[in-house]
Amino acid sequence: MRTAQDLDVAGKRVLVRSDLNVPLEGGTVTDDGRIRASLPLLQDLLGRGARVVVAAHLGRPKGTPDPTYSLAPVAARLEELLGQPVRLAHDVVGESARDMVGELADGEVGLLENVRFEAGETSKDDTERGAFADRLASLADLYVDDAFGAVHRKHASVYDVAQRLPHASGPLVAKEVEVLKRLTQDPARPYAVVLGGSKVGDKLAVIEALLPHVDTLLVGGGMCFTFLKAQGHDVGSSLLEEDQVDRCRGFLESGKVVLPVDVVAATAFAADAAHDVVAADAIPADRMGLDIGPQSVTVFAEALAGAKTVFWNGPMGVFEMEPYAEGTRGVAEAVAGLDGALTVVGGGDSAAAVRALGIDEARFTHISTGGGASLEYLEGKDLPGLTVLES
Ligand code: ADP
Ligand code: MG
Repeated sequence: MRTAQDLDVAGKRVLVRSDLNVPLEGGTVTDDGRIRASLPLLQDLLGRGARVVVAAHLGRPKGTPDPTYSLAPVAARLEELLGQPVRLAHDVVGESARDMVGELADGEVGLLENVRFEAGETSKDDTERGAFADRLASLADLYVDDAFGAVHRKHASVYDVAQRLPHASGPLVAKEVEVLKRLTQDPARPYAVVLGGSKVGDKLAVIEALLPHVDTLLVGGGMCFTFLKAQGHDVGSSLLEEDQVDRCRGFLESGKVVLPVDVVAATAFAADAAHDVVAADAIPADRMGLDIGPQSVTVFAEALAGAKTVFWNGPMGVFEMEPYAEGTRGVAEAVAGLDGALTVVGGGDSAAAVRALGIDEARFTHISTGGGASLEYLEGKDLPGLTVLES
């Protein structure tokens, strides 16, 4: 895969696909991790005299302009972080975008509006996507993809545009691929995977793919209740995927799965709800498990001790609410504290949890910016955005 370093960019218009899909509240960015992560490539290109045109998506607008999903707050934050003006076009490939790009001088940067304001971006129809990609490609001489979080999508700004311009990967994509290769090709053992979070259905496919290759699989978060149910325990009103119970029972037969022994059980999904630590096999019918308990943290930490490779995806509890954050904190500390191990954190919310809990990101080998994309890579799926960069 060619990297941005290999491109001669001075005086060229470089279209950069960045992952700037950050959480917003009341028009301000609440976690700028992804914007910060995008800086090294932008600074490198600008420093080498490129005219940088950034394309990105935010949220899920329905293929038409929607002010709720404008990249304006992102442009403002990017401008602060870069310490230089960031022009913002009012459209993606229209007159405003063309004018903006035309006005860029060497070493200047502009941001196109949310690429998902155009139906062609995510269209399943190759012709419609291609037509949008043609217009996008006409804005630049070169294309660099630094949006690892989107490489599993066959979208115009990720896939089709790379077929139309000389292309390369940015440092985020290159680093992700390097780390994920180390997880999939002959990982140092013992290899432990920690899974949590709430997208239970999606993640069972990952378990299926990873289980044969790992030594230990620790399951917490909203995931664990379907497993506890598979062991025959009642889980009260906790998150449960009834139709996946049999599948989880099958995974348990591997003998590699470690489950929580206690959970923080609350009367409601709220920070101020009454809550107690209860045994994982005795969750009261009117309670929901919102975090793994302190004994589980000890059990998980012991299971992780000595691991040489760890992949962690998904918070252990509803870390956004203070009473249910300790499980995630405990497991994050256990992973971060491993000596000489390759430790990888994947998943948007997991990465946000590390930052929100104030754990130094440098204590992990790598924090992935792309949740779904890393999981699909580990599942062994073909990722269109990577395949096209390799061609
Ligand atoms: P990631 O983005 O890291 O892949 P997910 O998106 O799958 O993770 O899940 C993150 C969410 O899971 C968080 O918002 C967290 O509050 C939620 N979560 C964790 N544990 C539980 C639980 N026991 N019940 C409900 N939600 C949970
Ligand atoms: Mg998530």
